[in-house]
Amino acid sequence: MSRFLAPCLQQLAPYVPGEQPQGRNMIKLNTNELPYAPHPAVVQAARQEAEKLNLYSDPGCMPFLQPLAAYLGLEETQVFAANGSDEVLAFCFEGLCPQGAAFADLTYGFYPVYASFYSVTAHVVPLRENFCLKPEDYVQLPGTLFIANPNAPTGLALAPEDIEVLLRQNANRLVVVDEAYVDFGTQSALPLLKKYDNLMVVGTFSKAWGLAGGRLGWAAASAEIIQDLNRIKFSFNPYNVNRMTLAAGAAALAQADYYRQCRRRVVQTRGECAKSLRDMGFEGPDSVANFLFVRHPHIPGKELYQQLRSRNILVRWFNKPRIQNHLRITVGTPAEMDALLAALEDIVQKQASTPLQ
Ligand SMILES: *Cc1c(COP(=O)(O)O)cnc(C)c1O
Repeated sequence: MSRFLAPCLQQLAPYVPGEQPQGRNMIKLNTNELPYAPHPAVVQAARQEAEKLNLYSDPGCMPFLQPLAAYLGLEETQVFAANGSDEVLAFCFEGLCPQGAAFADLTYGFYPVYASFYSVTAHVVPLRENFCLKPEDYVQLPGTLFIANPNAPTGLALAPEDIEVLLRQNANRLVVVDEAYVDFGTQSALPLLKKYDNLMVVGTFSKAWGLAGGRLGWAAASAEIIQDLNRIKFSFNPYNVNRMTLAAGAAALAQADYYRQCRRRVVQTRGECAKSLRDMGFEGPDSVANFLFVRHPHIPGKELYQQLRSRNILVRWFNKPRIQNHLRITVGTPAEMDALLAALEDIVQKQASTPLQ
């Protein structure tokens, strides 16, 4: 730390992203990327756009937002694009949380980091038994609600009826529904935008659209809320999404069928892998996302994580109360999951069989 750093940032604990091994031969199941390559038309669109790199990108992000609005069935005034959905979330914490923010104890790790970075009071609401979220736990709290749905790292989702209860019970509070994993098998809250002006749906192209490296996220909300997001963005970085990424996003939307197929494969693999893990003694919730959240009754999470790592398989382990013995495992290709299962089989066999606390 230099002596120039602002005092308010000296205590900050930055977000720790999953490891991104560069050039090492690892099976990467730690950051929930799509295991399938982009459609060739997406690569082609980005390449073509690179020829105009001397020119700024469209600050309105229209090359992407026009097709996105059409795809979602919304007006162009109801959508916003950002450098990953992390940037949308950052803008929310920065400008749309004047009374604070409320979110679960076990949810996306960036919420508490942004709260602290933007000096927003955080109300942390513990998930109930079995990682369930109860809308009534949020009623008395001031501030903007952040709900990851499906939730990470648990892989569990609220039904749209529960989201509607949250919106109704908190009519004077903004409810941000972070739908990073919605396309792997749950219903979106988007139709509720017609009825509720306190809803913001946040989406990303990093997971279900295979564009994690492009950094593309979006928000959908009332035209007024979208204006607010633009007010924040145009006071920070008007060219927040680069032109290759805008073109790649539009091209991906034009290949929606291809991505639907990729997701169908992931969902199929998820089911098969979940069953094999259960047969091996692992336990965990039934995931509706592109990852599994599991623990072994006899082997500490850290041990599993390290053993897998030494076998060149990366998964996510969180050194956090309640989930220290869990692993979050991204659903990869069938071959990747076979390698994972073989490694776990080996690890489990070599372990003493004393149950964990
Ligand atoms: C991955 C993830 C994000 C961030 O995605 P980017 O668009 O890559 O910034 C946001 N929310 C949740 C719950 C996620 O898992």
